[in-house]
Amino acid sequence: MSRSLRTEAIVLRSIRYGEADRILHLYTPEHGRLSAIAKGARRTKSRFGARLEPFFHLQTLLWQSRPSTSDLLTVTSAETLDAHGPLRERAAALDAAARACDAVARLFETGDPSPPAFHLLANELRLLDADARAAGAAHQLAFRLKLLVAGGFTPQLAHCAACGEADHLVGFSGAAGGVVCTACEASAFPLGQEAHAFLVAALGRPLADAPEAAPRALRQAERAISETAEHHAHVRLRPLPRAAA
Ligand SMILES: [Zn+2]
Repeated sequence: MSRSLRTEAIVLRSIRYGEADRILHLYTPEHGRLSAIAKGARRTKSRFGARLEPFFHLQTLLWQSRPSTSDLLTVTSAETLDAHGPLRERAAALDAAARACDAVARLFETGDPSPPAFHLLANELRLLDADARAAGAAHQLAFRLKLLVAGGFTPQLAHCAACGEADHLVGFSGAAGGVVCTACEASAFPLGQEAHAFLVAALGRPLADAPEAAPRALRQAERAISETAEHHAHVRLRPLPRAAA
């Protein structure tokens, strides 16, 4: 039994292995997370060239010889769909791209595919190429929020996540799954109006049109997103750099 798999993939991680090989962590639209070895990839005359670095969007042909004994596929060929050269020129964009790939790797750890998560990551990398603002804290939080939605972990923002009250929403509770009212705020932290408005706008708008907010509101929004990921996806997201917030 063997199989050959032709798929688009984004390189999340690229690890040196042995004398000349690389092990890639890939995210694919239809197969979720895959690991694959690229044999001889670090030789100077490798047919893969430099295209097995993180953030490369590839069209790959992968081969699995013995499905029962190993989850590691072999990269047969890889063509570049998008190298994401521009984002590599700017430290902040490079850092944001690494955090985006890390968040996808943590939230979508298993082989369960999520085409929306794949397309969201591809979109995020294109925006990081095109627009310096995409490396800012507000944009990165909007990306994370949409990633939570793709994973099925949408926080409740319209009414109290505990009792359904529509007014007096003053806190956010990761355990309750969203904003909470004054009566239910025991397990919550304070969430100001600006942070609440930011989360609502970030959910509703396209990623390219992510809202802005003051640093204090962004810190609250980050905490809401992080606690949602911890309570519901059981995943810790890397904190955003403080300078960017
Ligand atoms: Zn309530």
